[in-house]
Formats: sequence, structure tokens, C-alpha cells
Amino acid sequence: MSGRGVLVTGASRGIGRAIAAAFAEQGDRIAVHHRDSPDEAHSLLGGLPGQGHTVVRADLADPEDVRRMTDAAAEALGRIDVLVNNAGIYLHHPITELTYEQWQAAWRRTLDVNLVGAANVIWCAVKHMPAGGRIVNVSSRGAFRGEPDSPAYGASKAGLNALGQSLAVALAPHGIAVAAVAPGFVETDMTNEHLKAPRGDAIRAQSPFGRVARPEEIAAAVVYLASPAAEWASGAVLDLNGASYLR
Ligand code: NAD
Repeated sequence: MSGRGVLVTGASRGIGRAIAAAFAEQGDRIAVHHRDSPDEAHSLLGGLPGQGHTVVRADLADPEDVRRMTDAAAEALGRIDVLVNNAGIYLHHPITELTYEQWQAAWRRTLDVNLVGAANVIWCAVKHMPAGGRIVNVSSRGAFRGEPDSPAYGASKAGLNALGQSLAVALAPHGIAVAAVAPGFVETDMTNEHLKAPRGDAIRAQSPFGRVARPEEIAAAVVYLASPAAEWASGAVLDLNGASYLR
């Protein structure tokens, strides 16, 4: 089988879709993961260049679903050379506006998907990952800048960075490199509502370039971090925010 086997979570739309397309463009075979968007996932699959792609399904908040999905991806691809943990949720849950029960639910849901879900996909995928493997986590600028109205999201992404850096050390002896990208605002379904609202101009003005990112710009960085040339980027968290937040 030619090309590498690449599992991209949350690949039916947005950044994940662009990432799946970018890997396929360079000849890799993709497992397009989705939760409840089979039509979008299959339409992406149909349009990907090359052969050997597949669609897999799981709710990442469900550990058994994750195990089944990862095993199915490995079986279809032969192995998992690259894992991109892209799926994520962003819940609006300002501390002063919620009941205690709503507050807890938002934390649990966010961490279950963005942090524990990613950790479980990694555990399962590493079983199928040969030396030379790559794991790239899609984190966020919010991990560093804070997320006042979505503190669980910011914390989940900070946790994802710490998880990735811990595993960069743990998996290096196995020849596996682990890195992350930390985008600022990107034009996707997740942010569309904000970008179209009156405050959209203020969001674009966060960057001195006066715009937000396109999903393809994030995908290009993920493809680099997953490349054989990027072993020495293991442990890195790459800011992709158009100089909107410097740290
Ligand atoms: P999106 O909402 O378009 O896509 C997220 C994907 O994750 C969807 O396909 C969704 O189905 C999937 N997903 C969510 N919960 C899931 C679950 N329980 N099980 C399985 N899949 C699930 O968002 P996007 O903007 O493309 O975001 C992709 C990643 O980039 C996310 O991790 C997000 O946090 C991160 N990010 C986005 C931005 C941005 O501005 N759009 C900025 C920084 C980081």
C-alpha cells in the first residue's frame, strides 16, 4: 500500500476536512472520522484524490466507541502512521450566568471530548503506530490567552498541550513524535456565527493582518508537523494566530 495511513478526527467539516484533503493531496490514505455526519464524511471521501480512504464513526466522549473506531481505521489503512486529534467542541458557559449543575455539565462535556477523548484516541492509535509515527493535536490560542466565556475550552486545550508534551517524551523511544498547533480564529462552522455578528470586525482586527485564518493554513502546518522531517519538532506547540497573541 502506498502513502501513509492517516486518521483525522472530526474530519467531516472545518479544519479537519482541510487537513484530510491536504494529506490526501500528497498521496496519503485517510480515515475520515465523524460522529454524526455520514453524508458529509462520505462526500469528502468521494472527492479525495488517491485510493484507500475510509470513513469511521465514533462519539469521542465514549471510550468503547473510540476503541472500535480506531481499530476500524487501523484495519482499513493497514496501520496508523499519523493521528491528527482535530475534533473538539466549544461551549459558551460564562461563570456568572450558569447554575452549578450547568457549570459542571459544561466542564464534563468539554473535557470528555477535547481532552479525555483525545487521550483515548491516542492510547488506541499508538497500538497501531509504527516507528516514524506522528501525532498532531489541534489545540488553540485560548490555551494561553484564556477563554473568559468558555473556561473549560481553554483548560481543555491547555491540558491537551500538556498531554502532548508528556507523550512526546514517553513515545520518543518508540520513534513517535508528538506536536500541536494552536490556532487563533479560523473561518469554520464553529466560528461562523461570531464572524458574521457585529463583533466580527473586532475579531478580524485581533490580527494586524486584519483577517482570521483559513482552514487550509492550519492544514499546511499539520502536514509539516506530521512529516518525516519534523521529528525534532516533537513537543512543540506551534502558534498559528497571525500575530494576534504573542507569548
Ligand atoms: P467544527 O465545529 O467545524 O469541527 C469540529 C469537529 O469535531 C466536528 O466535525 C464535530 O463533529 C467533531 N466533534 C465534536 N464533538 C465530537 C464528539 N463528541 N465525537 C466526535 N466528534 C466530535 O470546528 P473547527 O473550527 O473545524 O475546529 C476543529 C478543531 O480546531 C477543534 O479542536 C477546535 O477546538 C480547534 N480550533 C478551532 C478554531 C477556530 O477558530 N475555528 C480555533 C482554534 C482551535
